[in-house]
Amino acid sequence: MVQKGLLIVLSGPSGAGKGTVCKAMLPTMKTTHYSVSCTTRAPREGEVEGVNYFFKTVEQFQTMIAGDELLEWAEVYTNYYGTPRQYVEDTLNAGENVLLEIDIQGALQVKKKFPNGVFIFLIPPSLEELKTRIVGRGSETEESLNIRFGAAAEEMSYISEYDYVVVNDEVEKAAERIRAIITAEQCSVQRN
Ligand code: 5GP
Repeated sequence: MVQKGLLIVLSGPSGAGKGTVCKAMLPTMKTTHYSVSCTTRAPREGEVEGVNYFFKTVEQFQTMIAGDELLEWAEVYTNYYGTPRQYVEDTLNAGENVLLEIDIQGALQVKKKFPNGVFIFLIPPSLEELKTRIVGRGSETEESLNIRFGAAAEEMSYISEYDYVVVNDEVEKAAERIRAIITAEQCSVQRN
């Protein structure tokens, strides 16, 4: 029988650097695959359909919910986001790992379905640094900035739901810590 892959969930407040850390980490992890989410938010400059997200209308997204096509979904900062179920199941069944970069509401849903998943929370070195990063990204409206920054403190209170906390002080260091967690989990007696 093929050993099932690990389901890894990475969450953290907007501006923690989840996307950047994933980009640094995944090219060197050939058996860990990024799950591309669906969203109703508009693409940011440079974002590519099927690479960063599958961009959907609200109607398309609701059809996916009704068809039970999403492993989890949530409304985050006024838009819908969700994880396509089939890709995750097929990849895990093939013995490869899947990385979900999703918010806390989604992570809590996944935890119920996959209690053996590995739940990692990425945090910035400080709330001040978080603000600098969100503003520096230059892609958010004033309103979106305020919503994202306002949510950050509340999001930090969910840390205890996760198995690991990683501080993103430097991208390469944070990536290395997550690689080490995944390697350790693959060797864990409890999970196998
Ligand atoms: P952004 O708009 O900055 O790309 O993402 C906003 C938030 O939505 C981030 O916290 C991100 O992790 C979360 N997110 C992205 N994809 C998904 C998903 O499929 N499900 C859930 N629940 N959250 C997601």
